[in-house]
Amino acid sequence: MVSDGVSEDVSITDFIPPFPAAVHDLKCGDCGEPLVCRESKEGRPFYGCSTFPGCRGTLGALPDGRPIGIPGDKATRKARIEAHRFFDMLWKPASEGEKPRMSRNQAYAWMRKKLKMSESEAHFGKFSQKQCEEAVRLIKISYPGVRTMWDRLGDDDGI
Ligand SMILES: [Zn+2]
Repeated sequence: MVSDGVSEDVSITDFIPPFPAAVHDLKCGDCGEPLVCRESKEGRPFYGCSTFPGCRGTLGALPDGRPIGIPGDKATRKARIEAHRFFDMLWKPASEGEKPRMSRNQAYAWMRKKLKMSESEAHFGKFSQKQCEEAVRLIKISYPGVRTMWDRLGDDDGI
């Protein structure tokens, strides 16, 4: 159980540098135990479940340790990742040299309007599973080209 290689990475957390804005009152979205601010192999902070490796719940963090979004359970995190990838296709060119549909800022503005959200609400890290599904649905309806791109990728995304 311990020899899966992953737990070794976490022992780095024995000497965490201080992340000044780290918080200590977050609960894991998967199991409800506390989340702990840790340092990734790249030296960036993230929140991991205090019961790791028993539970692998995580939450992203900014460089100063501030949490990004709110913890979601496994299904919510999966929905957020998928919705985010869908959303990114609105503004990332499909292939090199191709003209993007819109800028990233325009894409966020479009989503905020469609989902009737404020700037602080419209982050995938805060979305519920339902909101993620709604975002994907709206993108599919409004931008059929994105849907085609997605279907082409569909099978090998592994999530
Ligand atoms: Zn957990």
